[in-house]
Amino acid sequence: MTILDGKALAAKIKEQTAKTTAKLAAEGKRQPCLAVVLVGEDPASQIYVRNKHNDCVTTGIKSLMHTLPADTSEVDLLNLIDSLNADDTVDGILVQLPLPKHLDEKKVTEHISASKDVDAFSAYNVGKITLGRGGFKPCTPAGIMRLLEEYGIEIAGKECVVVGRSNIVGKPMALLLLAAGGTVTVCHTKTADLAYHTRRADILIAAAGRADLIKDDMVKEGAVIVDVGMNRKDGKLCGDVDYEKCAAKASYITPVPGGVGPMTRAMLLENTITAYENH
Ligand code: NAD
Repeated sequence: MTILDGKALAAKIKEQTAKTTAKLAAEGKRQPCLAVVLVGEDPASQIYVRNKHNDCVTTGIKSLMHTLPADTSEVDLLNLIDSLNADDTVDGILVQLPLPKHLDEKKVTEHISASKDVDAFSAYNVGKITLGRGGFKPCTPAGIMRLLEEYGIEIAGKECVVVGRSNIVGKPMALLLLAAGGTVTVCHTKTADLAYHTRRADILIAAAGRADLIKDDMVKEGAVIVDVGMNRKDGKLCGDVDYEKCAAKASYITPVPGGVGPMTRAMLLENTITAYENH
């Protein structure tokens, strides 16, 4: 069994990003810039935003932080996005989700210019992925694809089972696997017999957000297992997969932490560089 080491690959990608920005600086060019908007004081969001800021700083990407109070009106938030859309020195815009309840996430997400939508949550970018026409890819599924590629894991012709159908993980993950030639099944809370599907998987992506949902009797011998889940069990971070037992059957598996999480953050940096290059 081989561990899919997202932490190590993410470090390599960050090194590459730092080289790119250092070259731009040496040529006297403008730094790539990511604007991050945080509304309110959700503790998890504060950590995510701080991590994104630190990743930018360490790789030479300019980080523009906008921290707004929880009672910010929709008009004020949309006006800020308008000004960031129009700002030629801003390459990527990310509004940290979830937003406070009085703000319409769909409206806010769609307001970000498609060319700066580095999270790739907008209908335009999702449409492009669906049609296989390029565009930004959402960071978590894109990071998983990069990890599979790094370890030479073939997708074409494989049975790929995705557990979870959210707009930010499950659905785009299924689309990317499909585009790569996988035969894709998407499972969710209404799936009648989850184990029937997961047992068929050559590549199993667990993205349900339920600790220990995937037990060893639900996975095929030699499967590639990617655990997206981020759950808390007895105060400790864990994924959706019963790791020790499933690892004994897997050919490859991602750890939690150190698997998908660091890849998600690395892909945000890459999308920002792409936005800069397309600017
Ligand atoms: P979500 O709650 O929006 O979606 C979960 C999906 O899983 C739903 O489609 C639901 O139908 C399905 N599901 C839930 N319980 C199930 C069950 N018992 N059987 C079958 N399907 C089930 O969550 P999300 O935003 O897609 O995130 C999923 C998990 O991945 C969460 O733990 C989240 O924290 C984590 N996550 C990790 C990263 C990362 O970078 N590591 C990024 C995004 C999300």
